[in-house]
Amino acid sequence: MEFFNLTAHEVRDMLRNKEVTSVELVESMFSRIDDVENDLNSFLKTYKEEALEKAKEIDKRLSNGEELGDLAGIPIAVKDNMCTTGKNTTCASKMLENFKPPYNATVVEKLENEGAIIIGKTNMDEFAMGSSTENSAFQITKNPWDLDRVPGGSSGGSAAAVTAGEAFLALGSDTGGSIRQPASLCGIVGLKPTYGLVSRYGLIAFASSLDQIGPLSKDVEDSAIMLNAIAGHDRRDSTSANKEKIDYKKSLINDVKGMKIGVPKEYFGEGINDEVKELIYKALDKLVELGAEYEMISLPHVEYSLPTYYIIAPAEASSNLARFDGIRYGYRTAQFDGVDDLYTRTRTEGFGEEVKRRIMIGTHSLASGYYDAYYNKAMKVRTLIKNDFDKAFEKYDCIITPTVTDKAFKIGEKTDDPLAMYMGDVCTVPVNIAGVPAISIPAGFVDSMPIGMQIIGNHFDEETILRVAYTFEKNTDFNRRAKL
Ligand code: GLN
Repeated sequence: MEFFNLTAHEVRDMLRNKEVTSVELVESMFSRIDDVENDLNSFLKTYKEEALEKAKEIDKRLSNGEELGDLAGIPIAVKDNMCTTGKNTTCASKMLENFKPPYNATVVEKLENEGAIIIGKTNMDEFAMGSSTENSAFQITKNPWDLDRVPGGSSGGSAAAVTAGEAFLALGSDTGGSIRQPASLCGIVGLKPTYGLVSRYGLIAFASSLDQIGPLSKDVEDSAIMLNAIAGHDRRDSTSANKEKIDYKKSLINDVKGMKIGVPKEYFGEGINDEVKELIYKALDKLVELGAEYEMISLPHVEYSLPTYYIIAPAEASSNLARFDGIRYGYRTAQFDGVDDLYTRTRTEGFGEEVKRRIMIGTHSLASGYYDAYYNKAMKVRTLIKNDFDKAFEKYDCIITPTVTDKAFKIGEKTDDPLAMYMGDVCTVPVNIAGVPAISIPAGFVDSMPIGMQIIGNHFDEETILRVAYTFEKNTDFNRRAKL
């Protein structure tokens, strides 16, 4: 039997009913990987032998009648910017090509404790900087719906793996859209949790005040299951929120009656494909039919989100990436003449073009002469954007927008035009700036390519967005599998 089209919760039920073993699930994932990975390049590394060993152990525990969690025995994939003990964690960068961390990221530890089986690490844009997974130093991942197109990014490897059934679930990270945008372009579900809900310990930092880890999944139920596994306070991350634990499976309620949805007009302006707009309006009509109501609203400062993001994110990145100097760990140039030359050559050879571009933008806006004009100003605008969201949530349960401006673009189409690439993030970055949670779910197709709808919630209100997403999913049939 083929399992690759099934969801994690479906195979979980089969495992519990003894209709399948974890070893069979792992084997079936690897046979799927054998079939499609040459076309897709989703993974940077896979661990077949180890995965099979772990699966055997889980099967033994299950046959002993042990009660295990939802993810026990389920093959999953992890983006290659999350530390895995003794296993390469490259950030798809030459700088970390041979880096084997001596510790696990908290999310990895949590998943392993749940008995989930990590079958591999996925490709990404170098240091998570990008929207297409073309910035990987090692390979370009393809979109399973159309191999000439990008899967989105930066978590494109995780998105492609889940879409193509190479893993039942995957972790991504989202600094300005890197979970939601690839989910949207691949026709799957991607959730960026509230800033602070999921520990960032062991996530190699891009922009620390924006980064969050979250699930990429085939459906909303799997997203809730993964969120249950990874959310929670961690004393090793000083920005981790100490909140009471929530069971997100309880939010899987097929009912939106009486819900109030705000629809910001700023997300329906220029730069968004008309067909995308139309499809989101249709999705809103569907939610109205199901008992919700929506109103057009204004978030007056979100129009400044993109410039704000492209000051804050590179500023933080330039500081975070200063540690890669050829001395402590990571890549070191072969020949150098003194310490300055060592730094220069190491960083020149170790970092790709986009990473260097961000470091230069970041150091520029943090320089003493420009700090007030750029970084400080961006921080002030950030507060205004956050206030816009706070105000909207006084009146509305959630906010709905498109996730992306258009369908997946062709590989190579935007590589020479970084600004065009940045513009594509216009719908996703405001959420990271405000720190609120958002989920992208399939909402239709443009030219046979999937398009996502973004449902944004108030801080720590993942429950509402999961509920709206679940209801929409249950009452539509846009959640289809790519033919590959
Ligand atoms: N595409 C955005 C960028 O290039 C977001 C990346 C991300 O969320 N990691 O910065």
